[in-house]
Amino acid sequence: MYATALHCYFCGTDFPLTKLGSCPVCAHPGQESALNETLGVKYDLAALRRLLDREELARRPAGLWRYHELLPVADPAFRIDLGAGGTRLARLTRLPECVAGNMLFMKVEGSNPTGSFKDRPIGVAASTALEQGARGLACLTSGNIGSAMAAVAAKAGVPSLVFLLGSAGLADQGGAVNVEKYVQISAYGARVLSPVGDLGQLYALADRVESELGWSFMHNVQAYQTDGDKTTAFEICEQLGWQAPAAVFVPTGTGTDLFGIWQGFVLFKELGFIGTLPRMFAVQPAGAASLLSAWEARQQVPAILERIEPNLAPPISHRVSGYHAYKALLESGGGAVAVSDDEMLAAVKDLAAYEGIYCEAASAAALAGIRRALTRGLLEVEEISHKSIVGILTSHGLKNSLALSQVFTPPPQVEGTWEALRSLLN
Ligand SMILES: [Zn+2]
Repeated sequence: MYATALHCYFCGTDFPLTKLGSCPVCAHPGQESALNETLGVKYDLAALRRLLDREELARRPAGLWRYHELLPVADPAFRIDLGAGGTRLARLTRLPECVAGNMLFMKVEGSNPTGSFKDRPIGVAASTALEQGARGLACLTSGNIGSAMAAVAAKAGVPSLVFLLGSAGLADQGGAVNVEKYVQISAYGARVLSPVGDLGQLYALADRVESELGWSFMHNVQAYQTDGDKTTAFEICEQLGWQAPAAVFVPTGTGTDLFGIWQGFVLFKELGFIGTLPRMFAVQPAGAASLLSAWEARQQVPAILERIEPNLAPPISHRVSGYHAYKALLESGGGAVAVSDDEMLAAVKDLAAYEGIYCEAASAAALAGIRRALTRGLLEVEEISHKSIVGILTSHGLKNSLALSQVFTPPPQVEGTWEALRSLLN
């Protein structure tokens, strides 16, 4: 295996490759803090440079494990393969922003096996946990992590437990659970529970699940999740002809995905597979945009928001995102934008009606964020017209259709005659 250490990107300490949810030097267990999320996985670059080249990678089948040397699972028997990864990088052609030739692409992650990008990070983290000896899998989720984890648990033949948060995305704010996600997770055979208590209590409960049952709680293998997210960047580089785009827009909750994607580009550059790095932009819902606040105020560490406003994107609504994502957007020369419910809904409808891509509102934040960045002058003309801008459409629209049923009126009835149809179509 070429993974060598867990590395804290805040204090710089290396740790052995064991289960470690957060840096013991920097994190604040039991409290929300951006410093709870600072860890990533380091690799033996010299060995990888000798071993891998672009031609070798290009010969392999598509999917997560195409990049197995760049993932922290040594024994092939533990690499759970549901066919995650290998998703389309769609060039947008009909959106008003693109008809003039602007180079906008969307990475369509809703076509992953359980309908979201989470099949990458959870596929890798769950495989790692099982290789390290876990006897079952557990997580706390607003839905997509739960679906991804329950599916790999089913394939691996181990039990799984999902604490499913309500639509407010926070245990202590209640709200109904997302029905589509609840049904999907249950179908994979996971035990689904609706937790009551604050996040500190729930993480303490998670530690108990680990110590009493010998299961792995996905939050405690978060650093390994970022490695699954790296594969998104690897694929984008290959799909653009071994080049990085000018900028990448990522709908951002905890920020693990944004950080992982950034790390993927960095790793490919260190291996000599690409020549430049993209600027990374976080897109967050207005009223839940801790990274935007931190970026605008030049905070050293993102502060926790007093409260978050209810919105259409619970998967990316957190009081604070991880420091690792903040570091990625600062290092890359990117930034952060906030988008409203109306902007996300317009993006859902436009992606579907112009481009044939149906995604969840939280995913469409990627396009809404690009639009916001264009309006605010955050993107150079050169970047959008001669290079390329990529948005990450994190999940499929069928994950969240009920929430959108308020937007589209029920279909009107039509009599079965040509005259009646004709008058309606007119
Ligand atoms: Zn640290």
